[in-house]
Amino acid sequence: MNDLKKRSLIDVDAPNASTGIINGRSSNILNWDDVRFPWAYPKYKRMLANFWTPFEINMSKDIKQFPAMSEREKDAFLKIIGLLALLDSIQTDYAGRVADYLTDSSLNALMIILAQQEVVHNHSYSYVLSSIVPKAKQEEVFDYWRTEPILRERNDFITNGYKGFAENPNVENLLYSIVYDVILEGLFFYSGFAFFYNLARNQKMVGTSTMINYINRDEQLHVGLFEKIFKEILKENPEYDTPDLKEFGTATFSKAAELEIDWARHIIGHEIDGLLIPELEAYIKFMANKRAEQLGFQAPFDGYRTNPLRWIIAYQEVDLGKTDFFEQKSRQYTKTSDANGFDEL
Ligand code: ZN
Ligand code: ZN
Repeated sequence: MNDLKKRSLIDVDAPNASTGIINGRSSNILNWDDVRFPWAYPKYKRMLANFWTPFEINMSKDIKQFPAMSEREKDAFLKIIGLLALLDSIQTDYAGRVADYLTDSSLNALMIILAQQEVVHNHSYSYVLSSIVPKAKQEEVFDYWRTEPILRERNDFITNGYKGFAENPNVENLLYSIVYDVILEGLFFYSGFAFFYNLARNQKMVGTSTMINYINRDEQLHVGLFEKIFKEILKENPEYDTPDLKEFGTATFSKAAELEIDWARHIIGHEIDGLLIPELEAYIKFMANKRAEQLGFQAPFDGYRTNPLRWIIAYQEVDLGKTDFFEQKSRQYTKTSDANGFDEL
């Protein structure tokens, strides 16, 4: 019952719209007018509309500013890039593995676009590093996941969560791995994002933060896609929607927030450029609550219902298109209101 069947390359007797999100049958022909889930095509359009490449980003100011930053800022900057590079690398591979077991050609298509975006994210880290540090340093940064113990602990948490599914792909392990996915794409990037947005708020490294904003925008769509997949699997296979799964979900988000907070303390100390650790901790707990609830779990932390980093909203808005909004310096607080998707962030 717990088995997962791979999607057939072609099935002449099956319909184009699949008979189930997992363990279903589908011809594997992709006709967007004849797919199982009505949300798939709008999601496809939004993912395509996000298209960007690192080459669009002008790094000339960042190149001048990086050497002038403090040692602490530089260290935090590079360690966060090192962390993101590991997470985006394994994410590219994970997306492909999940796609193999989604018995629906349109969801496979969405996972391929998702994986392509992860490749671009990885490229962007090389692009930033090659602009600001020599080659030997770039290589060191791409090795931080191995050489920095705190980074390793945090990343092992995710990679072990993915390994369960990669080594033993069954329905339960797929569901568990999606919890880790939402932690990776929807929580573990967020103190890093806050660090870069805070630099931009101080008019530092604005090119890098623009790139981070594009990545953030992609990740929000990715979290939304995995949320849909998770919920559809449970809807079609309600026997897996168990108290154990719910307990696992809440406990895992709680543990993830703890690791994220340890990491933030390590990287930022008590304060960096006006970004205070108590505020960042509250932000991480707020995000953990929000993500847990998105998957239908109980929020792990009492309280933490509103975003304590109100200024960050302006930097995280997802539908700005490609306007170079970071150049508009006085907008930090002006666009923060409940009407502009505040609760979404
Ligand atoms: Zn990514
Ligand atoms: Zn992603």
